[in-house]
Amino acid sequence: MKTFEKSAKLNYVCYDIRGPVMDEANRMIEQGMDILKLNIGNPATFGFRAPEELLRLMNDNLCNTEGYSDSKGLLSARKSIVEYSKKKGIHQVTTDDVYTGNGVSELITLSMQGLLNPGDEILVPSPDYPLWTASVTLAGGTAVHYVCDEQSDWYPDIQDIKSKITSNTKGIVVINPNNPTGALYPKELLMEIAEISRQNGLIIFADEIYDRLVLDGEEHVSIASLAPDLLTITFNGLSKSHLIAGYRCGWMSLCGDKSFAKGYVEGINLLSSMRLCSNVPAQSVISAALKMEEETKQLLVPGGRVYEQREYIYHALNEIQGISVVKPKAAFYMFPKIDTKRFQIQDDEKFVLDFLMDKKILLTHGGGFHWEKPDHFRVVYLPEINQLKTACEKLSDFLSYYKQKN
Ligand code: PLP
Repeated sequence: MKTFEKSAKLNYVCYDIRGPVMDEANRMIEQGMDILKLNIGNPATFGFRAPEELLRLMNDNLCNTEGYSDSKGLLSARKSIVEYSKKKGIHQVTTDDVYTGNGVSELITLSMQGLLNPGDEILVPSPDYPLWTASVTLAGGTAVHYVCDEQSDWYPDIQDIKSKITSNTKGIVVINPNNPTGALYPKELLMEIAEISRQNGLIIFADEIYDRLVLDGEEHVSIASLAPDLLTITFNGLSKSHLIAGYRCGWMSLCGDKSFAKGYVEGINLLSSMRLCSNVPAQSVISAALKMEEETKQLLVPGGRVYEQREYIYHALNEIQGISVVKPKAAFYMFPKIDTKRFQIQDDEKFVLDFLMDKKILLTHGGGFHWEKPDHFRVVYLPEINQLKTACEKLSDFLSYYKQKN
């Protein structure tokens, strides 16, 4: 009898945001338990609603969007993305350089599949959004992690990046604003990363899906705007800024010098054609969405949900003995540090599992973001303040008696 195992490639792929601890949480839910899931950045599950106008428009468009679109996406959507890129100081993008996707996720995978051969290396941050490492690995390449430094507001460590470059390094992933840390990188730092890329012939993969979710009046700078000479692929989408993660709407745009990457662009075109196209009803609202700035901004200023929830959880977590956290400046995540000595923690996945079983709250352990030490976890601060308050009280209580047993 034939048996069917998972592909050997997948033995090296990890995506623990939806991993074994979440499976356990789902088992508990099936048994009737109420679990607070702080593991996924999915705004709709926490009562965030997409702008009404956008939903109405998509509904109206349903009867015109039954067919496949061009594999790169509707021309009208790509034109708006070109305009948006210009607003962000990225001037050379044309509609031909834009590819829409079923979320940024699909395009991350596609961009790696089109590029990598065994032995090729991609620099990926640690901590990372784990799909990047997974996609590099699945495409047959090697993810080499560079450290982001908690002591410096979680900025990428430039020396560490330099020390990890080899003749096999093909590109560098820059997640700004960052998931899981909530960091927002300053222009000077981005210029340093661009210079390293220039000197070493690296492609920059700029994941900027949170660029419209910036707090404290700060401004997001696109790395592509600082390095028009370099081949940069910028990723963005509507999942987070327009609260429509379920509609799967993302895009990537290529800019800079493509002359040395003709084969790669051909590969991207081929892969893009093979999946026919991305969700067309979702593409049909991109133009309108990119003009709607106020709806998102309202969440980010004092009195807005994302701002107030960030303020609350930042203070509440820092008050817990043994926990410290850097204040995030963007997105809706934070990456607190836990005093491993105090709680005898050697295994961070076990820590979040023990917390789940005891207090019915689901977090993701730092290892799920390719963070090596067992001393961090990620919190999604999308729930309302009363839920965050309960979560912090339960964590505080749990840590008043928790000592990890091996
Ligand atoms: N990139 C980052 C940094 C993310 O945090 C996420 C989702 O959480 C994605 C990409 C994927 O987003 P989507 O596929 O919904 O566009």
